[in-house]
Parts: sequence; C-alpha cells; structure tokens
Amino acid sequence: MKIWMNDNLVDQADATVSVFDHGLLYGDGVFEGIRVYNGAIFQATAHLERLFLSAERIALTIGYTHDELIAAMDQAIAANGITTGYIRLVVTRGVGTLGLNPNHCPKSTTFIIADAIHLYTEEMYTNGINVITAKRLRTHPEMLPPRVKSLNYLNNILGKLEAIRGGGAEAIMSNSDGNVAEATCDNIFIVKDGAILTPPAEAGILLGITRQIALLIAQRLGYAAREENFTIDAVRNADEVFLTGTAAEIIAVVRLDDAPIGDGTVGPTTTALLSAFREFIDSDEEITYTE
Ligand code: PMP
Repeated sequence: MKIWMNDNLVDQADATVSVFDHGLLYGDGVFEGIRVYNGAIFQATAHLERLFLSAERIALTIGYTHDELIAAMDQAIAANGITTGYIRLVVTRGVGTLGLNPNHCPKSTTFIIADAIHLYTEEMYTNGINVITAKRLRTHPEMLPPRVKSLNYLNNILGKLEAIRGGGAEAIMSNSDGNVAEATCDNIFIVKDGAILTPPAEAGILLGITRQIALLIAQRLGYAAREENFTIDAVRNADEVFLTGTAAEIIAVVRLDDAPIGDGTVGPTTTALLSAFREFIDSDEEITYTE
C-alpha cells in the first residue's frame, strides 16, 4: 500500500511519524474519514470544510489548500487502485518538544491513507444491530468541542469498550444534561410517530456529514425530520432507530441493551432512507457543510 505523506507517496513501511510528533504524544491534531464511491471522493468539499474548521478551533495550521488536499487524496486513491473505499486524512501538530506548547512544533504532519473499508457485516445491514447504553458521558462541549474531529478519541474509545464488553456493535453516549448525544463513531436518529429526530449540535456531537445528508433526504422524502433533544428512554421506546456515519453509512439499530426496538426488525423508514442515500451517492450532489 502507498501512503501519501507530506507531499510524497511512500510505501506503507516508510510512512512513519516521529515519536516527538504531538499527534502521537498528545492526540494533538485533526482528521477526516471520507468515502470513495465509483472512483470519486464523496463530499470532498464538506469534509475539507470541517477539517479546516476543526483545525482553526485548535489553532492548527494546515500546510495545504483545499485543492492541494484533493489532489493529494486523488494521488493516494490512484496509487492504491481504490474505486470504492475509504480515505483517512490526518493532520497532526507535527514534530515538537516533549512539552505541550504547540508553538514548538514548526510544521504540521499530513498523511493520507486510502484503503478498503469493512465496518459492519452484510448481515448487520440486513438485520440491524444491537447497541448498548454507555455509562460514560460524551465529552462536554466546554471541555473539548465534539464538533472538532480531533485525534483525541479516548472518550469515544471508552464508550466503544463498553459496547464490546456489553456485546453491542455500538454504544449510545449521553451528555451531562441527560440527553442522548451520539454513538462512539456515528450519529443517532430515532423515528417516532412518523417524525425523524436527531440530537442538535448543542447536545455535544460531531456534526456528521452523513447526518446532514440523512436530514436532507428525509426532508425531501416528506418526513418531518428535525434536530431535537431526546433521552435514552426515547431511544428505547422509538419505532425505529438508525445510525449514520461515513463508514457505517446508514445502519438500523434493532435492539438496545438486548431489548427489541419497535418490532425488532429493520423498519420501513430506515429502509427508505437507505435507498434514498444510495441514490444520493449516485447523483454526485455536493452538500455544503453547515454548523
Ligand atoms: N460522530 C462521531 C464521534 C464520529 O467519529 C463520526 C465519524 N465516524 C460521526 C459521528 C459521523 O460523522 P460522518 O457522517 O461525518 O462520518
């Protein structure tokens, strides 16, 4: 596999970062996960918008323009013969000293991995997944804004560990207000009495690109789809629940803590949205990332 790293395509074995890179030492950096469908980068502009906003919020200078990063991603895709796959674009603070001070890191490190992707199995898409209720709360926005897609994923990893220990494919994390925020690496939607709800930005979530598309296509299909807070009890009592994410796309949740949601099968709204999402991919329509 070839990795794009700081301007060059290098063999995977040579794609290494320094032990003094603050991305490694402190999780100091930002990233994006991006799909490739039919040889094209899906929602490249929206992902780059979010990447640059994330970087700005941690005062990190990205050493490339949007266009340069698109060209770099294209190179990484071509070098690995990827037509359908996944790109991981990472910008770290760069090599510095052992202290926290980011000003001692003169140049950010940028690398791009283009690879295949298999997050969930076909069976999980067909039959839906079981998720668990995480005890761990999602990071408070006043501490580290969850809308910053930073290399600090330990909060999410602690949630993921709960999922694994509890036999769930994902963990649903709430915030300190007692409302649901999101899953460890996906956004969450519930369907209740015909309405489609997803937590608002204020719930302390990553503003997912797939979430934005799901809201858009749901509204276009005529559903009452909106951002609104809800609790884990509303998830438990929903007619349908689904998760959205770049890697997950749209996946039905049919059990919470092993208890069925609705009738315990993939519901009609989720199925309709999934097929509309497929059409959206093929339409090549580009969204503008909005906060
Ligand atoms: N929330 C979190 C915490 C995430 O890491 C992700 C991305 N995997 C998402 C939501 C979904 O965002 P997107 O649709 O932009 O991939």
